[in-house]
Amino acid sequence: MFLMDKEGFLEKIREAVDLVKFHIELGHTIRIISHRDADGITSAAILAKALAREGAKFHISIVKQVSEELVRQLKDEEYKIIIFSDLGSGSLSLIGEHLKDKSVVILDHHPPEPVETHEKHILANPVQFGANSVRDLSGSGVSYFFARELNEMNKDLAYIAIVGAVGDMQENDGVFHGMNLDIIEDGKSLGILEVRKELRLFGRETRPLYQMLAYATNPEIPEITGDERKAIEWLRNKGFDPDKKYWELSDEDRKKLHDYLVIHMIKHGAGKEEIDKLIGDVVISPLYPQGDPRHEAREFATLLNATGRLNLGNLGVAVCLGDEEAFRKAMKMVEEYKKEQIEARKWLLQNWEKEVWEGENVYILYVGKNIRDTLVGIAASMAINAGLANPEKPVIVFADTDEDPNLIKGSARTTEKALERGYHLGEALRKAAEIIGGEGGGHAIAAGIRVPKARFAEFRKLIDKLLGEQVKKNEDQG
Ligand code: C5P
Ligand code: C5P
Ligand code: C5P
Ligand code: C5P
Ligand code: ZN
Repeated sequence: MFLMDKEGFLEKIREAVDLVKFHIELGHTIRIISHRDADGITSAAILAKALAREGAKFHISIVKQVSEELVRQLKDEEYKIIIFSDLGSGSLSLIGEHLKDKSVVILDHHPPEPVETHEKHILANPVQFGANSVRDLSGSGVSYFFARELNEMNKDLAYIAIVGAVGDMQENDGVFHGMNLDIIEDGKSLGILEVRKELRLFGRETRPLYQMLAYATNPEIPEITGDERKAIEWLRNKGFDPDKKYWELSDEDRKKLHDYLVIHMIKHGAGKEEIDKLIGDVVISPLYPQGDPRHEAREFATLLNATGRLNLGNLGVAVCLGDEEAFRKAMKMVEEYKKEQIEARKWLLQNWEKEVWEGENVYILYVGKNIRDTLVGIAASMAINAGLANPEKPVIVFADTDEDPNLIKGSARTTEKALERGYHLGEALRKAAEIIGGEGGGHAIAAGIRVPKARFAEFRKLIDKLLGEQVKKNEDQG
């Protein structure tokens, strides 16, 4: 396996730090643009904390994506220095064209658009140094290394950085990789985080065990996912109180529960990969009390995702910075967010067969308004984990979007197994959008697109063909 050039990456980070320091010394306000999910929100919080420590002023906006409208607006603002975090790499031409008169730093982990970065701009992205964009470092991790190079004191932001990584599912195969491990080491050395081998499901702190199991979607637990009564019965049978929370169990009971679950999974034909996903790295932090969602990284990340989805990313940033009032507000948003995910899964199970379009290389599902456009990525991943889709064929789920009645929003997801066949979803969607109109891009394993609704039929054929070409190219290269 190709190893990442960490020193090269950190050197690039130091260049970015020097540029930002220069502007701080001139008294300039630092303009921060970050992504609207847990990774982007934690990235922004890390930068905010680090800049505040240097006595710098800053102004944060949490956005869905980099659009032409956004860069035009930034161009007209007075700010002399802009930091993009957890986004920007896919929009290098747009940024280069409109912001050439500004200082720009891009701290990101998305595969970069294949063009030169503007000579006055700095792109610090681990992918340029050999990292895997969805495993080795997230946007919050890039911001963390920026903060650490700015001031070693910022090592105390390691837990927040890992919350972002978990929000992006960087440990989706059950363990952390790459430079995420360096962040974990920093956190451990300060005693602000701990990694345990535990049940990797949402709900460790705040949900009763029966819900933790019944709502498992990554991986699913055969016969238990989607069925609270079965979950209760199963837990009782094994001698557990279904209303207890995972954090309340003794180490011994946790181990028993893991063993029963593994046997259950094997009995139902689950593979090693699913079992590795179920029990693996779980990060907790003594900075928060047990039973508090911020005590465990997945619950913390879900809280932040819930704020971002409602366009309240700034509230999420405040939560990361320790604002208790913001935390209480955010808590109220999680229930609805989770409820919608359960509804989305039900809708998928009922409608997949009759609604899905299947090509040689892709499943495409259009859900209209039945699933919200901010949940189509989760829906695509659920279709794979629920066994509706063959895991070796990518899935794209489309929904209507409130932003524009003429556009539909799609999220594509696939698996490591499928990637071995040569697929790169981000490249395929970028190309499709270039040809058909709209905008698309992202990682090999997870990507997004917006396309004109009127050209959907054409899009389906095109993306099937583009994905087919990727497989063909891979085979030809043998
Ligand atoms: O794939 P994406 O970032 O959109 O996923 C966002 C969050 O959705 C993940 O952090 C995860 O907690 C949640 N998710 C889920 N069930 C899945 C896939 C993702 O709850 N099958
Ligand atoms: O915006 P961005 O980089 O933050 O998000 C990464 C996306 O990749 C998330 O939606 C995450 O759930 C998804 N992912 C995935 N499978 C993985 C790793 C990440 O679908 N193995
Ligand atoms: O974040 P993670 O992927 O582990 O989340 C898995 C699932 O947890 C979500 O898809 C959601 O449906 C579910 N969940 C829920 N309500 C609960 C507990 C979990 O919806 N009370
Ligand atoms: O929109 P969605 O959550 O499906 O996006 C999946 C991944 O693709 C995210 O990492 C997102 O930032 C990225 N993406 C991108 N360019 C786009 C759309 C999505 O880089 N035009
Ligand atoms: Zn990210």
